Amino acid sequence: MAADLYVKALVLEDRGGQRGVVVTNALLGFLAAVAEPICERIAQKTGLKRSQILLNSSHSHAGQALSLKVPAKDAGNSGEALRTVEYTKQLQDKVVAVVEEAVGNLQPAKLSHGAGVVHFAMNRREFTPNGIILGVNARGLADRSVPVLRVDDADGKLRAVLFGAAVHGTTLTGDNYQLCGDYAGYAQTALQERFPGVSPLFMLSAHG
Ligand SMILES: [Zn+2]
Repeated sequence: MAADLYVKALVLEDRGGQRGVVVTNALLGFLAAVAEPICERIAQKTGLKRSQILLNSSHSHAGQALSLKVPAKDAGNSGEALRTVEYTKQLQDKVVAVVEEAVGNLQPAKLSHGAGVVHFAMNRREFTPNGIILGVNARGLADRSVPVLRVDDADGKLRAVLFGAAVHGTTLTGDNYQLCGDYAGYAQTALQERFPGVSPLFMLSAHG
């Protein structure tokens, strides 16, 4: 069940020279304390402003935890917490590096968009006689759309696919203790196998 966790970047520039970057990753999420120094360094290296940078985590519950400090509660037994801090610093370096690389690799491209559907999205507000619990509500509202942005090169060859879903990254359930990108990671792997050489990026939509 364990699988590699990826950080990926898609830089887009319109005809007017306006740029923006979408950074995707298989983490639970970025705290501001982790994210903002990344954005500052990206700005220094690439000139992209904060408003041009979107950091999106797939919110895999099997993703690595991030922290730049050893929490007080772990001070007595800080081995794992220190490794988390070390990982977080390395991750910050990698995010900056991948954006820098993407900015340096801009090529003419054609964009198109479409939509698919995800069938396992589920409203989790279950109504019970004792109130609403975190459960399964098959009749509740759920966004089952899969927005897709397709990137072809100037010759019409597929280069990248940015797609999303509004589904919590908990399909592996609480029984899983191994690092994994959850359904979003598996979806990207499946796309990679189907379209060798293409970069699939997953972007999480708003979900419950
Ligand atoms: Zn969650």
